Amino acid sequence: MTQYTRELFDQVMIQNYTPADFIPVKGKGCRIWDQNGKEYIDFTSGIAVTSLGHCPDEIVEILQRQGQKLWHSSNWFTSEPTLALASKLVEKTFADRVMFVNSGAEANEAALKLARRYAVDHFGYQKSKIISFKQSFHGRTFFTVSVGGQTKYSDGFGPKPADIIHIPFNDLNAAKAVIDEQTCAVIIEPIQGESGVIPANKAFLLGLRELCSQYNALLIFDEVQTGVGRIGHFYAYMKYDVVPDILTSAKALGNGFPIGAILTTDIIARSFAPGVHGTTFGGNPLACAVAAKVVDTISEAKFLENVRQISARLIKGLEQINQQYQLFKDIRGEGLLIGAELIDKYHGQASEFVKKAANNGLMILVAGPNVLRFTPALNITEQELELGLARLANSLMS
Ligand SMILES: *Cc1c(COP(=O)(O)O)cnc(C)c1O
Repeated sequence: MTQYTRELFDQVMIQNYTPADFIPVKGKGCRIWDQNGKEYIDFTSGIAVTSLGHCPDEIVEILQRQGQKLWHSSNWFTSEPTLALASKLVEKTFADRVMFVNSGAEANEAALKLARRYAVDHFGYQKSKIISFKQSFHGRTFFTVSVGGQTKYSDGFGPKPADIIHIPFNDLNAAKAVIDEQTCAVIIEPIQGESGVIPANKAFLLGLRELCSQYNALLIFDEVQTGVGRIGHFYAYMKYDVVPDILTSAKALGNGFPIGAILTTDIIARSFAPGVHGTTFGGNPLACAVAAKVVDTISEAKFLENVRQISARLIKGLEQINQQYQLFKDIRGEGLLIGAELIDKYHGQASEFVKKAANNGLMILVAGPNVLRFTPALNITEQELELGLARLANSLMS
C-alpha cells in the first residue's frame, strides 16, 4: 500500500504551500485526528470555513441526499437548491439578487467586473478607478491580487490591470483626497483578515458610504471572511449598520464545500446581462443544498447571540493567558475572528507559535508574521474551548 507521507507532498505537489508536518485524516466538530491518531482541537476551522464544525451530521445528511439526486447541470439550467439558497440570501440581506461562484477570489473578481461594467453602462469608460486599502486581501486571481494591498502577492506576474490605487486603512481623509468622478468602486474588508485582524472604525465605513454615494462609486464589502456569522452577526455590515452596494461571501458559506456568492441590488445586477459573466460550476445543486442549510442555521438570532458569548469567553481566556506570560500587545477582532498581536520581541515569529501549538494538540492560524489568529467553529462547546485554551497556555510556556 502506498504510504501517503508529508515527504510525498514535496515530491508530487507544486511547492506553493508548505503544509504542517502532520496530515489530518478525520474531523468531527472541533476536533481533528492525524494519521497517527493524535487528536487536535481545531481553532482554525480551515481558515474560518467549517463554521459548524467538521462533518456536522445534518449537513452530511443533506450532502448524501442531494448526492443521490443531482450534482451538476451547468448554468444552462437552474436548480431547486440554487433557487432556495438565493431566496434565503435575498430575504435575509439588503440584496435583491445574487450570483453564485466557487470561491472568495471568484466572488471578488465578479464584484470588481460588475462595478467596472456598471460604471461603463451608466457613466462611460473614463469611470474606472478602483480604490482599495493597503494590506487588504481579496484573493489570488490576477485582478484580485492587483486590487489587494500586498505587493508580495501581486508583483512578478507582468503588467497589472490599470486604475487601481491603495490608500491607508481607517484613514477617511486619504479616501477624500483620492475619490473623484472617475472612481467606480471602493472595496474593503470590514475587518481586514489575512493581514492581521484589523477592524474598520464605524465612522470610517460610514464616511466611505457617504463618499461613494456622493461620487456615484459602488461600495463593495468583501465579507468572504467576516460573513456568515463569523463576527457574531450574519454579515458584518449588519453590525456596522452600513449597507454596501455589492457584498461578496464565500469561506463559511458551504462549511467546506466550495461556494462563493455576490449579493447586490436590482439596478446594479442589470449590468450583468445575459452572457456578460459566467462560471461552469457556480450555483451547482450540491454546493447550494449544503449552503442553504448553513444559512438557515447560522442566520438564527439565537445562534448569533451564542457566537458573541463564546467570543467573550475566548477573549477573556486569551487575556488570562497574557496576564501570565505577557506575549501579546493587543487582542482584537469581533465574534470568533480574533487576532492576538505578539509583543515586539516576538515579531516575525507567529508561525513558530503555530508549530508549538500543533505539538500540544491545538491548531491555530497566523494573520501576517506578528499575529496569531483564532477562528474556531461558531458552535464550539465550552469544554472544547477551555481545552483548546489550556493547550494554548501549555504551548506558549514551552
Ligand atoms: C480568503 C479570502 C479571500 C479569498 O477567498 P478564496 O476562496 O481563497 O479565493 C478573499 N477575501 C477575503 C477577505 C478572504 O479572507
